[in-house]
Parts: sequence; C-alpha cells; structure tokens
Amino acid sequence: MRVGFIGLGNMGNGMAANLHRYCTANKINFSVFDINKDAVQSFADDGAMAAETISEIAKQSDIIFTSLPSSKQVNEIALGEDGLLKNLPEGAIWFETSTSDLSEWQKVREAAPDYLTLIDAPVTGGTEGAAAGTLTMLLGLDNPLSDTHSNLLNAVAKKVIIMGPSGAGYITKLSQLHLNYLVAQGIGEALMLGAKGGLDLTILSDVLSHSCAQSYVVDNYIPKVLDGSYDNSFALGLARKDMRLVKQLGDHLDIEMPLADNVVASYEDAVSNYGPDAPHLSIVRLIEDRTGKNFRS
Ligand code: NAD
Repeated sequence: MRVGFIGLGNMGNGMAANLHRYCTANKINFSVFDINKDAVQSFADDGAMAAETISEIAKQSDIIFTSLPSSKQVNEIALGEDGLLKNLPEGAIWFETSTSDLSEWQKVREAAPDYLTLIDAPVTGGTEGAAAGTLTMLLGLDNPLSDTHSNLLNAVAKKVIIMGPSGAGYITKLSQLHLNYLVAQGIGEALMLGAKGGLDLTILSDVLSHSCAQSYVVDNYIPKVLDGSYDNSFALGLARKDMRLVKQLGDHLDIEMPLADNVVASYEDAVSNYGPDAPHLSIVRLIEDRTGKNFRS
C-alpha cells in the first residue's frame, strides 16, 4: 500500500503530518503534493516523497487524500489527462476531506472509472484537531472499509463516522457548518449587547461558557474575538464558500432557510469589507464596525 496527500494548507498540513508518522512507522511509502512548493519541501525534509505533478502523485498512490479549498480545485486535480481519475492505479481509493459541493462531487464520481473508489470524507475539529489527530471524519461511502483503511483513517481522526452512502459525508458537514456559522454570527450580537450595556466582556464570556448557551463556538471563538486576532487558522473566504454551500444544498433539497439567507448575506458583506483572506471571525468585526463600538476599547 502507498499513500499520497494533496493540499498541505491549514488542515492538510496537520493531517498529512499524522499520516506521514503512521506510514513511516508501518513502512508505507508516503508522497505529498501542493502548488505551494515550500509546504512540499518541509515534508520532503522530513523524509516524505515530494511529487512534482498530480499525475506523479496519482501513479504512486493506492490511497490518496485531498484537502483543498473548494470544489473548483478538487475538479482541477481530478479531471483531465493529468488528473487523478486518469492516473490513479486500479483499485485505488480517494478520501476527499475538503468541504465541497455535493453536485460537483457527483460529477467527478460519474467521470471516474469503475475500478476507483471515491469517498467523501469531510472533517470537523479545526486546525488544532488536524494537528493533534483528533478530527472527526464524516464518511459517505457505498461499500464497507477494510481494517487496513480504518487504521489509516484513525491516524488523522479520533472518530470516523459512516454517515451513509456517497454524499452523506458532505451533507453532514454542511448541516454542522450551518449551526457553526449561525452561532459565530450570533456571538457578535450577544457580545454587543454586553458591550453597549456596559458589561465586562471577559466576565460575560465566562458566563456564556457556563450557561445553556455554551458550545464549542462560544468557548473557542469568543476569546479570539476579544483578543482581536479573529482566528487566523481559517479564512473568511472559505467560511463564505461554506455558507454558500449550505444555502445551495437547502435549495437543492427544496428547504426554506431564512436564517441561512441572513448568514450568507452577512458573510458576503464581510468578504466585501475585509477581503477573502481575512480571518473568518471578521464576521464579528462587521457587527463592531456597523455599530461603531470596538470590543477592545
Ligand atoms: P488552506 O487554503 O489553508 O489550504 C489549501 C491548500 O491547498 C493550500 O496549501 C493550497 O496551496 C493547496 N492548493 C490549492 N489549489 C491546489 C491545487 N490545484 N493543487 C494542489 N494544491 C492546491 O485551506 P484549509 O483551511 O486547510 O482548508 C482546506 C479544506 O478543509 C477546505 O475545504 C475547508 O473548507 C476545509 N476545512 C477547514 C477547516 C479549518 O479550520 N481550516 C476545518 C474543517 C474543514
């Protein structure tokens, strides 16, 4: 068995490092590819094989993982003469861990030869979870996994949950993201009530974390708003992409989602104001700027 990893960004870097350790311990060849040559070089310095092209990494992988910004890049690396679909060996498995568009993924699957297995395997748990190997991985698959593959997945994820047939992983991820972004926007308004009402926001934050409003978002995001960093581990442009995907899935499934409409519009505004590379919690900065009250003043 040979393993490859494409996309060594905020998430991919941690996941690939954990897979690399597992592969080294089990004498499995491990290759990486990214358009960012520095990211590839740092893995090569640690002993991983550095591929120069998608077709090269495809040919040397029986199992390939991808962690890319969106469906656009997933399609780019999948299709065409030099893409994964034409160059992965017979029997290869592709775990696609990005947060992607279900209908685009279905097109990629339709273009794939029968001898390949494509599994949607989005992850949750953030960059800390990726680095620590404690992610939750949500699988959409049509056939059971072997123990060998399950062991490999456990190198990146503490929990691997089979959600249903192909596509079920993406649907689960979008359901989770909808709540995540809804609450992320909500903490801005909740903190603003406290700020304009004259409360100490550190004490308010502590109360929220010990109340029925408690959640991962409340516990982990509020401190990154109050210290003014707005959380650099995830880009605002990717958050907007995620919310657009939530809305598209709702449309596809014919569900009215007024809350999602509102949240998408806020992320569109935030990207217009701060740019796609700003930290994702700039969604809260939008509320501060509109109200004319900075949480740190
Ligand atoms: P990122 O932008 O930090 O990383 C993406 C990587 O892909 C970069 O290293 C980039 O150079 C590389 N890349 C782009 N186009 C490429 C191509 N054509 N070929 C090869 N490499 C290419 O993004 P991220 O934050 O690591 O997120 C990756 C995916 O995981 C996204 O779909 C995101 O929505 C999802 N996700 C992110 C988080 C998070 O907290 N950051 C959490 C869960 C899921």
